[in-house]
Amino acid sequence: MEHIRNFCIIAHIDHGKSTLADRLLDMTNAISEREKMDQVLDNMDLERERGITIKSHAVQMYYKFEGKEYTLNLIDTPGHVDFSYEVSRAIAACEGALLIVDASQGIQAQTISNLYLALEHDLEIIPVLNKIDLPSANPEEVSDQIIDLIGCKREDIIPASGKTGQGVDKILEAIVKRIPAPKGDPNAPLQALIFDSVYNPYRGIEAYFKVVNGTIRKGQRVKFMATDKVYNADEIGILQLKQYPKDEISAGDVGYIVSGIKDAREVKVGDTITSADNPADAPIEGFEEVKPMVFAGVYPVEIDQYEELRSSLEKLRLNDASLTFEPESSAALGFGFRCGFLGMLHMEIVQERLDREFNMDVITTVPNVSYIAYMKKDPTVPVKVNNPADFPDPVKLDRIEEPYIKAQIISKSEYVGSIMKLCIDKRGILKNQVYLTSDRVELTFEMPLAEIVFDFYDRLKSISRGYASFDYYPIGYRESDLVKVDILINGDPVDALSALVHRSNAYDIGRKMCEKLKELIPRQQFVIAIQAAIGSKIIARETISALRKDVTAKCYGGDITRKRKLLEKQKEGKKRMKQIGSVEIPQKAFLAVLKLN
Ligand code: GDP
Ligand code: MG
Repeated sequence: MEHIRNFCIIAHIDHGKSTLADRLLDMTNAISEREKMDQVLDNMDLERERGITIKSHAVQMYYKFEGKEYTLNLIDTPGHVDFSYEVSRAIAACEGALLIVDASQGIQAQTISNLYLALEHDLEIIPVLNKIDLPSANPEEVSDQIIDLIGCKREDIIPASGKTGQGVDKILEAIVKRIPAPKGDPNAPLQALIFDSVYNPYRGIEAYFKVVNGTIRKGQRVKFMATDKVYNADEIGILQLKQYPKDEISAGDVGYIVSGIKDAREVKVGDTITSADNPADAPIEGFEEVKPMVFAGVYPVEIDQYEELRSSLEKLRLNDASLTFEPESSAALGFGFRCGFLGMLHMEIVQERLDREFNMDVITTVPNVSYIAYMKKDPTVPVKVNNPADFPDPVKLDRIEEPYIKAQIISKSEYVGSIMKLCIDKRGILKNQVYLTSDRVELTFEMPLAEIVFDFYDRLKSISRGYASFDYYPIGYRESDLVKVDILINGDPVDALSALVHRSNAYDIGRKMCEKLKELIPRQQFVIAIQAAIGSKIIARETISALRKDVTAKCYGGDITRKRKLLEKQKEGKKRMKQIGSVEIPQKAFLAVLKLN
């Protein structure tokens, strides 16, 4: 055990985590030339295209130092706030962390939020000043920021470049010298912390774990403590770029287990694996069920694809346990599902996977958060509201609560004024303001999660010219004065366009939604009235005038292939349309609320 080092890399997105990880693998010869790809750790296509690490992975390397061979387990963490619980479990499996800071960008919001998580778990922090090869690198100032932030000495900071390889040997040395070996008792009852899982269509779910105490053996009966289910450890092993089966893995080390589990929901990140015959007294602390934070209706464009959508969602859920869904119906959209996501990025990923992997054309409604309603007749019983359409009759409502978050924003000080204004517009309350250096400020706000769902991040980026970084975590539910704004198209309410908003914003949002829908709904052969209403009261109205549109007219009846092409194109355009009464509404319109200015 004294020759094992478990570490993770924490960094703000794009500061060079994946590049450096690949370089470490390179230098320890963990990768053969044949296995080498651009970025080996991001092995999901979607991840590679987006340049972000969605799921965490683990990989083992060997490093010789002063004549002894060390086993280094690198536990990769996802970089996005939607997956912060997974980050916290990966961190809990480590004794040390490389804190990577881009020498041209300086400290950013995720640098700090991930650092706090690492400090909470008493990790040894190795600060790395990365990308020093860049001409725009600012090593002096960024080193000052790091010293201020973690209170280290200047000589503790390792200047490096994942790109040129400079300093990477120093990083490997520091991992061995500064990070403590794992503690734990190999003879105690088994406690292994699950920090990640992946779905394999042939082998079922593979769970990644760190053995905290005891020893796990091939073939033994194991129990997953949160679900109380017992499995056979059909195969256990260690992870390099391939899996290497082993007969046993002992306290301090990291590995995988395959035990015939087919459904991702049976393997919960944060759960403890123990021995079924000689179980540990208690699970490892810190287990939490991850709960979806953002909900949206997902409907097939073609009504007869409902069953196909259901089976696609079921298949997706096999490898994405954080996706939830249940059937719902909408007067406007027919039969579909109310899906729960960890956040906006997670929602986008699911939408994209439905499209790419299952060829499903879906309409997604405006996302909303989950509310808790208390009714007058029994004001102590919380009622979950995951869909604005289920918003209770205001007359019968005692009170309603919505989820709040703590938001951390780091920016250049010149943008503080506009950021304050944005956050206050979004019902934020300023909690703290700290100058990290003379021109960099950290602002802390408490604000409703719903306001982040609605077009917050894009606006923050644009008012700060891309300089502000942002991170958040949930802090519980608070009472709020919310009303439901309905949209009527030619007098018919379109339930899928309803939104729950704070009373003080209702008129403004109603008006803007009508304006936006007027832009997005194409003119048709009759007049279309768009109205916003609270209950029976109309609060805004727009009108789309009639148009007689003949797309083939401009072909002068001549070129038949051009004409056919045009008709094809029009058909394509119709695919993502939904017929509401006699009016055709494009998919974009259902997300209109997200892009109000
Ligand atoms: P991650 O989001 O933290 O995983 O960052 P990546 O490793 O994907 O790197 C983000 C971008 O920075 C990519 O375009 C890399 O090529 C680039 N990059 C990473 N490390 C370095 C470095 O040391 N020097 C320079 N010049 N560019 C780097
Ligand atoms: Mg990456």
